[in-house]
Amino acid sequence: MTTRPAASTSARSVEDHRRRVEQLLRPIAVRDVEDVPVAEALGRLLAGEVRAPLDLPVFRNSGMDGYAVRAESVTVTPATLPLAGVVAAGQPGQTPLPPGAAMKVMTGAPIPPGADCVVPVEDTRADEQTVTIERGRRTGDFVREPGTDVRAGELLVAAGTLVAPRHIAALAAVGLPRLAVFRRVRAAVLTTGDELMPAGSPLRPGQIYNSNGIALAAALAANGVEVISVDHSRDDPAEFRAKLDRATAAADVVFTSGGVSKGDFEVVKDVLATLGGEFGSVAVQPGGPQGITVVDGVAVLSFPGNPVSTMVSFEVFARPMLRELSGLPAVPKADVPLLDPVRSPSGRRQFLRGRMEIDGVALASGPGSHLVAAMAHADVLIDIPAEVTELTAGSVVEVWEL
Ligand code: AMP
Ligand code: MG
Repeated sequence: MTTRPAASTSARSVEDHRRRVEQLLRPIAVRDVEDVPVAEALGRLLAGEVRAPLDLPVFRNSGMDGYAVRAESVTVTPATLPLAGVVAAGQPGQTPLPPGAAMKVMTGAPIPPGADCVVPVEDTRADEQTVTIERGRRTGDFVREPGTDVRAGELLVAAGTLVAPRHIAALAAVGLPRLAVFRRVRAAVLTTGDELMPAGSPLRPGQIYNSNGIALAAALAANGVEVISVDHSRDDPAEFRAKLDRATAAADVVFTSGGVSKGDFEVVKDVLATLGGEFGSVAVQPGGPQGITVVDGVAVLSFPGNPVSTMVSFEVFARPMLRELSGLPAVPKADVPLLDPVRSPSGRRQFLRGRMEIDGVALASGPGSHLVAAMAHADVLIDIPAEVTELTAGSVVEVWEL
């Protein structure tokens, strides 16, 4: 490993910038509660505990397709018993079992009063009138008693739970139609650039497709955030200002892309600087030019427009806090060996795009921040500390899951 002291620079460190972003985002922590259908509760944070409104199982029912009998009728086998009827799942099943008889029952069907066990169909032979039980059973075998899973009034799902499919199964099983969850953090995305076109439009010379809008929206959604709008502005201060005001009026946090560098038409920087925005360089690559503004109490995070810069900015500065706000676990990180040698600029922390292999991490892309297609082959970011300028294959690096 080769290291060099950081070049003297006024750039802010990644940690400092991230802390500043987190300071702004933390107060968003949403306490508002909304009612959603259980079917739509996946990935939401439960606002309060849920207690079972009824017993599960709801009633005494059969755990097998078979024959409901009294255990005492089959202590000696084979035992041939008269067949007293059939109970299918969904039937009330209130006809009592006559002493010494058997009743055919399906899985989930009520156990007839008087029966105390079920003999699986595999252990029987039957004709029209009788069933011959080959193997005896003890009282309680294959009988599912009410409340043995959960009793009415007991805790079903704890407050603060991040709702997963297994919780939905339990909530649905007790017949809950709706659920109180915290509302999601609401974000708006606003991209900028005269050259950008939406998918589906033909490209004229000089134009490219707008990928950051859709990509940021996807990144937000993947981290539990509700994306309320994805808008685009030309490099026109009045248009940008109008669309920004619309975004800040409705969102908890606004993400802009483009227009923050040192070019001639930096609409984001120009407009937001007049609103007190802090624009400067962070010692990171990609994603050096960054902006933070608070507009009417709403945080506006301005990422540079190169597609990889936008995505890496999101990963490094916004994603950790957004996950915390959404109740999601932290992004997994690991120390793994590099499979390729790496060079890195002095004084800037570099996040390279990597692809995990069995024995380490390979480079998935060159360092260029426009290499958006190459990033699709990556599944991790490789974190190269600011002072490191060179790493040989085999060096251990930290990777962040994308
Ligand atoms: P900017 O930060 O506005 O100077 O843009 C830097 C580079 O990123 C330029 O090549 C832009 O064309 C490109 N770019 C900016 N915004 C987007 C976007 N929303 N989608 C795709 N590329 C973009
Ligand atoms: Mg631009």
